[in-house]
Amino acid sequence: MISHDDHLARILAAAPAPRVERLAVSGGSLLGRLLAADVRSAVELPAFTNSAMDGYAVHSADVNEPCELPVVGDIAAGDTRSLSCEPGSTWRIMTGAPMPEGADAVVPVELTDGGVERVRFEAAATPGNHIRHAGEDVRVGDLLLPRGTHVAPHHVAVLASSGVTQVDVVARPRVVVVSTGDELRAAGSELAHGQIHDSNGPMLAALVEAAGAQLVEQVHLPDDARAVSQLLERAVESADVVITTGGVSAGAFDVVKEALIDAGDVTFDKVAMQPGKPQGFGLLGERRVPVFTLPGNPMSTLVSFHVFVLPTLDAMGGRPPRECERAVVERGWTSPPGRAQFARVAVRRDDSGRLVIHPNSRQGSHHLGELAEANALALVPADVDVVQADDELDIQRLLTKE
Ligand code: AMP
Ligand code: MG
Repeated sequence: MISHDDHLARILAAAPAPRVERLAVSGGSLLGRLLAADVRSAVELPAFTNSAMDGYAVHSADVNEPCELPVVGDIAAGDTRSLSCEPGSTWRIMTGAPMPEGADAVVPVELTDGGVERVRFEAAATPGNHIRHAGEDVRVGDLLLPRGTHVAPHHVAVLASSGVTQVDVVARPRVVVVSTGDELRAAGSELAHGQIHDSNGPMLAALVEAAGAQLVEQVHLPDDARAVSQLLERAVESADVVITTGGVSAGAFDVVKEALIDAGDVTFDKVAMQPGKPQGFGLLGERRVPVFTLPGNPMSTLVSFHVFVLPTLDAMGGRPPRECERAVVERGWTSPPGRAQFARVAVRRDDSGRLVIHPNSRQGSHHLGELAEANALALVPADVDVVQADDELDIQRLLTKE
């Protein structure tokens, strides 16, 4: 048996580097994506000096006390003329409209009589007032958004106002999920004696999405090695990762193993963990696509995903490893000797602010009735057989929607 750490290290060493793709800034698809490169501005903002108020553009020297001036005309936002303001005259101007050459202040309409032909200013103008200067906000070459930014709606505003239409982001790994087993029927189907609902398929599909990856297909296959081989051959042509469940232990119908073991590209191991002992991993096809063959028991699948698949999807998606936390055991339990246990637990803060672990009372790899209470996996090291109250353990949060 190998340790889960060694198995994961081997997988991460083989996992491909993040891929980059180009996405449009408009349309909403950029939200939550990770920028693969710095974005710098090719323009200055504001692009032209403009008025910050509805009012009158003036030479401030003309308005150093209450007075009246002739109004040359109107400048609205979007006016593309190049205009100038002669001394002794004024333009009526709107917020965001380009300042006429020569004017050095805007007098807000509220401080005037609002005249159209002639206007009366009630107070003196202050030089520079209510003007937005070209380049005062952003200069050409300024860093708008650094590489590694998770794009939020306000970042989209930065990109769009700078005229950026497309950016490079880290591609979300495209994942195919395959459940295998003659006994499996889709949820909602009627079951004959001996049949069960496929829960791993839908769970893995949800886990893939929760991990920020992209589910491209979720299929169920019978226990037929040829069907498994054919599906895998097709899947690795376009997917970045394939995850199978079931068919990798020591039974007579362990067809995933049967389909892959002779190809030599997937290694099957016994990993010293509970649940999740039988694991397979390899790179398949010309594109060397990572293929995880996870065991079929639902809790083995859940744990295997969190321990092996999630760190791989994170690495391929350009994300840093997830933080592990420490928590204190409230009441103890026993753990299988010689294997690390990933126990389903509820972790809560107690009154003194400590993170406290409450284990599910049943930890079999098929037990899922108490899962609603669990929000984490607690790692009991392989050399610990009895977990005691007040022990401290590493915990990993179960994935929820990002
Ligand atoms: P296997 O790894 O194929 O030997 O399956 C181990 C156990 O997990 C058996 O009890 C299977 O019926 C069950 N199982 C396998 N795949 C699934 C699945 N997709 N959904 C629910 N249970 C499964
Ligand atoms: Mg099976």
